[in-house]
Amino acid sequence: MNDRAIFGGLRTVFLDRDGILNESMPEGEYVTRWEDFHVLPGVPEALRLLNEAGLRVVVVTNQRGIARGFYTAADVERFHRAFARQLEETGARIDGFFVCPHEKGQCHCRKPLPGLFEQAVRRFPEITAAASVMIGDALSDIEFGRRLGMKTIFIAGDKLRPMQRAEKAARLADLRCASLPQAVDALLAARSSH
Ligand SMILES: [Mg+2]
Ligand SMILES: [Zn+2]
Repeated sequence: MNDRAIFGGLRTVFLDRDGILNESMPEGEYVTRWEDFHVLPGVPEALRLLNEAGLRVVVVTNQRGIARGFYTAADVERFHRAFARQLEETGARIDGFFVCPHEKGQCHCRKPLPGLFEQAVRRFPEITAAASVMIGDALSDIEFGRRLGMKTIFIAGDKLRPMQRAEKAARLADLRCASLPQAVDALLAARSSH
């Protein structure tokens, strides 16, 4: 399948957070302070391009550090508000943030389980998996998207900090890119070739 066939009818872009929008912390560490929330290069501009193309942008993020007591759900909301303000200055917007605060095996919303997708559909009932893409840097992101019937893009990310099971994720995804800006370029090029 070429990119156009993959992304032709796209309406909603689901994004993982850590490693896609902001730098991920080393394995086993978490973004516990706003000072640790380092937005990756080109991300605000890439989000603005998605906004301008009329695509809905939704973040779905596993934050088990909340269950483990490293930070609170209120901290995460505060980071997301601060990030949204920063994006606003670039004219970019994220339409919704959906967070799983739970420990592994305790809920229906920790990716790759579908709960965060269901929450997004409750807020935006017009969302369908068939018209959505999931962009992430972990196997759980790619499995989340695939199980729901979305298209998937794997972001290879930091070679010094490879994600566990990245090879399998890369193999399962419909497309592989080095960064969110690169993925957005590919998506928008595929759509405009209609
Ligand atoms: Mg990630
Ligand atoms: Zn959960």
